[in-house]
Amino acid sequence: MPELVIAIDGPSGSGKSTVSKRVASALGLAYLDTGAIYRAATWWCLDQGVDLEDPAAVLAAVRAMPLEMGVDPAAPGVRVGGTDVAAAIRTEAVTGSVSKVSSNLDVRAELRERQQRAIADEGLPEAFSAGRGIVAEGRDITTVIAPDAHVRVLLTASEEARLARRAAEVHGTADAAAVEATRQFVVQRDKVDSAVTSFLEAADGVVTIDSSELTLEQVVQAVLDLAERRR
Ligand code: C5P
Repeated sequence: MPELVIAIDGPSGSGKSTVSKRVASALGLAYLDTGAIYRAATWWCLDQGVDLEDPAAVLAAVRAMPLEMGVDPAAPGVRVGGTDVAAAIRTEAVTGSVSKVSSNLDVRAELRERQQRAIADEGLPEAFSAGRGIVAEGRDITTVIAPDAHVRVLLTASEEARLARRAAEVHGTADAAAVEATRQFVVQRDKVDSAVTSFLEAADGVVTIDSSELTLEQVVQAVLDLAERRR
């Protein structure tokens, strides 16, 4: 295991990607967006014309997926078979289907191995942090992927705050219409996702940070403080 592994889980819109990238940059660590891995798998299945209702076909496709995850927090990047899919994995088509892929337990086992290898700094295109460590974020990092991480955080926020953040991100505004348009991609997705991963309550030893009333800087500082204490 690298010197410092920071695991951050949380629901959609909790701010975990932004916080994780900031923390990784501040500490010179690599950054792993595991949501992007599930999104890339979904994009790949759709691109290959795989029926998402056919679990065996989805598993076979995911096993064969030529995925390259970038781990530079300043420019993470995701490529599948040499194609840059960073934008394609954020479309509604992928966001609306990703839970179908991520609820396949065989797919999770396959991707768990890839995530654990990345956290152990193996099998990545470049050894970004030269063994200094990594910030990995997702839904089951603190519990399944890296339960022995040095720092384990559950980042939460009120539904209202999460919807407003996601609406601003996707639609450029958090007015009532944008919030409504975002709801199914946040609330509904979390509901489906929480059947296979537990990211709504902190497991033993996991520190909960509620970001509803905190600025981004305050949340980043809270995680940096935990890392400092752990050193
Ligand atoms: O975090 P993000 O919204 O990009 O995650 C996309 C999807 O990937 C989630 O809705 C969930 O279905 C899946 N996921 C997961 N386990 C993780 C990270 C993401 O199942 N550790």
